[in-house]
Amino acid sequence: MKLLASPEIWFVCGSQHLYGPGPLQQVAANAQKVAAALAASQRLPLKTTFKALLTTPDEITNVMLAANSDANCAGLILWMHTFSPSKMWIRGLSVLKKPFLHLHTQFNRDLPWGTIDMDFMNLNQAAHGDREAGFLHTRMRLGRKVVVGHWSDPEVHDRIGAWMRAVRAWHDWQGAKFIRFGDNMRQVAVTEGDKVSAEMQLGFAVNTHGVGDLVARMADAAIDPKAINDLCATYEKTYRVAPALRKGGARHEALRYSARIELGLSSFLEEVGAKGFTDTFEDLHGLRQLPGMATQRLMAAGYGFGGEGDWKTAALVRAMKVMGAGLPGGTSFMEDYTYHLSPKGHQVLGAHMLEICPSIAADKPMVEIHPLGIGGKEDPVRLVFNAPAGPALNASLVDLGNRFRLIINEVTAVKPPKLPKLPVARAVWECRPDFKTACAAWIYSGGAHHTGYSYSVTAEMLEDFATIAGIETVLIKDGTTLPALKQDLRNNEVYYHLAHGIRV
Ligand code: MN
Repeated sequence: MKLLASPEIWFVCGSQHLYGPGPLQQVAANAQKVAAALAASQRLPLKTTFKALLTTPDEITNVMLAANSDANCAGLILWMHTFSPSKMWIRGLSVLKKPFLHLHTQFNRDLPWGTIDMDFMNLNQAAHGDREAGFLHTRMRLGRKVVVGHWSDPEVHDRIGAWMRAVRAWHDWQGAKFIRFGDNMRQVAVTEGDKVSAEMQLGFAVNTHGVGDLVARMADAAIDPKAINDLCATYEKTYRVAPALRKGGARHEALRYSARIELGLSSFLEEVGAKGFTDTFEDLHGLRQLPGMATQRLMAAGYGFGGEGDWKTAALVRAMKVMGAGLPGGTSFMEDYTYHLSPKGHQVLGAHMLEICPSIAADKPMVEIHPLGIGGKEDPVRLVFNAPAGPALNASLVDLGNRFRLIINEVTAVKPPKLPKLPVARAVWECRPDFKTACAAWIYSGGAHHTGYSYSVTAEMLEDFATIAGIETVLIKDGTTLPALKQDLRNNEVYYHLAHGIRV
């Protein structure tokens, strides 16, 4: 995946000097064993490194400051092996800018009932030491994830793993650049938003570039014809290409133009160091087609994308791709396009004009060319395929004016029926808990028609991500009811207004 970093997680153990040097050596040795077990776990996507046993306010503050300034540290795991009076942690946690997870575990899995004595009791105090820590985290209103259970438990690793995926995406967003070619589609509300707030709160920058600069990057002078030949050959090898588009076919020139867009766009993104982009069919001056297959393939390479200038969705798709890195199932830009409202079961047909990512293709994509119907440009080349059946989710990031809200709906994708006339990639899904509740909940929440759609990212990862970002989450899934959801939305209006104050 493009520009994917593998930062590390610092493992930090808290204690105090009350117990003398012997027990502290034992505590440090145990903590190193726990960190090493996490480092070796195949379920965890980032490496855990034991950093320190912390016993004084100065030590704690110094490690937190070091974490802030180390670009390779994406987050911290805290564990109190013994009691660690938590006023010692106030100064350090006040300055900590990196996400942290509070692992509530203990070194021994089983209690040695027959031999347990007061030395054992003094050494293994996480049961109350972690509560002292948790009180302070709550007292300081710190967002964090609490994971409970023995450190060898695979379920504990899965909870930590989901958090690490969120942490990796958060780390990826900090300083990330997203390019907008043109503004958003005229008059559209949900693709608008406060880019200053986004950069302050979410860490990424969104800036515009003239589409003419992209066109210049695609000119004969900038693109080697051999690169176009090679890319067209790659298309013929990788996909099923419509006969008219193949080498020697009547419309092969359109395929070559699509390759030209891909090469120009790709070099532009690399030069800027961008992790995603948007475009709009309303601003394509100098481009002969709306980028279709080029955008689809760049998404598959790991770039975020949002159609019609939707920079929030471009950033979200990128974050979701980072979260899901290495897992089966892909992530795509998506749009709830049209419904099947049969009494036998209501379904959503998801698609876009062109830009669905082939990372979610169930079958070998077909390269086709058809008219777009809007925008007045030449027919664009696109990849056409079905997305597979299975558990999936949609997520939408909206700007409510005083805050960002992340809306998530768990869905069950089904195999699309035959759609012989539909010239775009598509997914069909059933919403949870049910179509009517999910759609009403989504609309009450202000969720957009654009989403990040994923088979690999889970609601847990996205909730962890939102906690790190300090933004509101609305989760629509089995068990969601409209009265409770509406009450939550009302409560959140008050909570976030008070919690954020006037800063955002
Ligand atoms: Mn759209």
